[in-house]
Amino acid sequence: MTSVSETELRAEIVRTCLRMVELGINQGTSGNVSARSGERFLITPSGIPYEEMTPEQIAVMDVDGTYRGPCKPTTEWRIHAAIMRERPAAGVVIHTHSLYATTVACLRRAIPALHYYVAVGGGPTIPCAEYATYGTPELAASALAALHGRDACLLANHGLLVVGATLGETLRRTFDVEILARQYVYALSAGEPSILPDDEIERVRLKMRTYGTQEADDPGLVRLDAPPA
Ligand code: 13P
Ligand code: ZN
Repeated sequence: MTSVSETELRAEIVRTCLRMVELGINQGTSGNVSARSGERFLITPSGIPYEEMTPEQIAVMDVDGTYRGPCKPTTEWRIHAAIMRERPAAGVVIHTHSLYATTVACLRRAIPALHYYVAVGGGPTIPCAEYATYGTPELAASALAALHGRDACLLANHGLLVVGATLGETLRRTFDVEILARQYVYALSAGEPSILPDDEIERVRLKMRTYGTQEADDPGLVRLDAPPA
């Protein structure tokens, strides 16, 4: 029996895929998405254009490669399974062939700390995983290694991989890394970007934990209508 939450998660995955098309960060059949669902995870089918993808085509998969569904899961299921297995906090994995991240990946370079926002990837660089053929265990192993201590990495001559807790968070992070890659390509075409030191990125990473929340984190700010403690 399909639970209500699984049904909703399937619909949310399809909405995420369509949003990626709208944002211009995935096109055609490139890229794939997975989301944890209880002991297993839901994963997009292989080779089906996002505009044609239906919630029923999304497979339910186990980390050992067994699956249920009318369509074969993405050829990159090994990457998704490895992350779901090795990183219990990961709820969602998004893979794209977005233009600028892929451009940097084709240079086989990491994105350095040219902008403080590199901290969205969890560290001072967005590293680039070693090249391996798409869909292979070797690619899954190199991606997992590059993601050590990070929530995003490039895949050499291929694309981008991002990990997060929810579909919303992971999609935002994916878009942020793509913008960062665009800034890097623009900066390289205009000159040599100035790179921020690791300790500054660590400061930013900690500060960003409360960014976008209402948590009191700025001693210079005094809320006048705050309820008495
Ligand atoms: P799938 O259609 O099998 O998901 O493949 C797309 C892709 O990006 C392979 O790396
Ligand atoms: Zn790919």
